[in-house]
Amino acid sequence: MSSANTIDLPKIGETAGSTLSIAQEQQIGDQIMRQIHRSEFLMKDPIVTDYIQHLGYKLVAANPDALGRQFQFFVIHENSINAFALPGGYIGIHSGLINASRSESELASVLGHEVAHVTQRHLARRLERQNELSLPSILGLLASVLVATQDPEAGMAGVAATQAAGQQSIINHTRDNEREADRIGITMLSAAGFDVRAAADFFETLQQSSRYTFKPPEILLTHPLSRNRIAAARERAELYPKVEHQDSLDYTLVKSRIRSKALINDREAFRDIEQKYQSNQLKTVEQRYLFAELLKNNARYRLAIDILSKLYNENPGNQLLLFSLSEAHLANGSGQQMLPLLEEQLAKTPDSTKLILSTSEIYLTAGKAEKAEKLLLRYSDLNQNNPAYLKLLAKAQADAGHTPEMYETTGQYLMLLGDLRTAKKHFELALHATSEDPYAQTRIQARLEDVKQKMRAMIEAAAKR
Ligand SMILES: [Zn+2]
Repeated sequence: MSSANTIDLPKIGETAGSTLSIAQEQQIGDQIMRQIHRSEFLMKDPIVTDYIQHLGYKLVAANPDALGRQFQFFVIHENSINAFALPGGYIGIHSGLINASRSESELASVLGHEVAHVTQRHLARRLERQNELSLPSILGLLASVLVATQDPEAGMAGVAATQAAGQQSIINHTRDNEREADRIGITMLSAAGFDVRAAADFFETLQQSSRYTFKPPEILLTHPLSRNRIAAARERAELYPKVEHQDSLDYTLVKSRIRSKALINDREAFRDIEQKYQSNQLKTVEQRYLFAELLKNNARYRLAIDILSKLYNENPGNQLLLFSLSEAHLANGSGQQMLPLLEEQLAKTPDSTKLILSTSEIYLTAGKAEKAEKLLLRYSDLNQNNPAYLKLLAKAQADAGHTPEMYETTGQYLMLLGDLRTAKKHFELALHATSEDPYAQTRIQARLEDVKQKMRAMIEAAAKR
């Protein structure tokens, strides 16, 4: 590492004792996250993402060290069992892990553990110890390891994967890190009201799932599990009062929703569950919800609406069911029927992303674009990183004829996806079109500066790799 002309990029390990600042860590995390946003692996379903965010925030709120730090939880569409924490507070969970968990507390134990890796800056500390690594090579490394983990075939093909395999050890957590993350994770579990025994329970779930396969769950590659670790988790749990945590209805429904996506082309599974329905054997909420979701996938909206309406009436106020029901109505062309109920619930919980998305989508199909835009804009701060939200807002603005605003929102959306060049073009278009509005001008100028700065960083990174 010789050139010293980088302005935006931090150099890591340049001088003894230099540390990666939280801002630099954030920059690394942001760049990787843009790559993830662009990939097909990121699950964009608002039901699943909303749920995992809320569960994650519950744990973050129970950890004083996490105060003032940014966290973003997301789900990777992948059947394998894995979870990882990136620099900058980005925490990814594979959908397979959600499915493999046997209770909400088990799932929460994984999130808590990952949050602890972030608050203790385990990855960041290890990265800064790699003296010869520059930031661009760290980015390349993390990205290639991620790709190799997410997509083994693509990963194995290239040279990148060979490098990744050799350097995987950098992102693997050490036993000391694991111990610390386990300890802090259990404290968070307890403070957030979950069952502290779930941490050890989940380790056993993991062991069982690897017993009959040659390949252990991926999470065990980056988070080594030893007999000691399980025993320690059991012992530690004894120190806390026993809590019987009841799984939330949302946890159950999210698992069914994920399963319905995995079964999307499975005709046999569909016939099987349909037969059960016809012979009145679908008893549990999760089975009925799974069937309704599969019906939607098969364009059988009427019956899906019927089942979801019953489920909603049994669980009034459940936003997840309401969102699913609205989806079915929208697909059926009867979305407007949902408006009174949605508006009533939205008045009660005005910050529900799911309700905002459902309601504005129905406004849009009813030709009420301005109303949709107004509703969406009320929650722009909360949804800056939500691609589904930005996409819908851009459509509302286009339909409402608010072209400069549409350019600006599209630019934000593209930035999230890492298409910086096209994002920049959109901000420039927005800037020209808002020449009358000084507030908009200032705001868009700032966005332009931001995208330019990120582009410079990317160019630097590419040149150095
Ligand atoms: Zn770990």
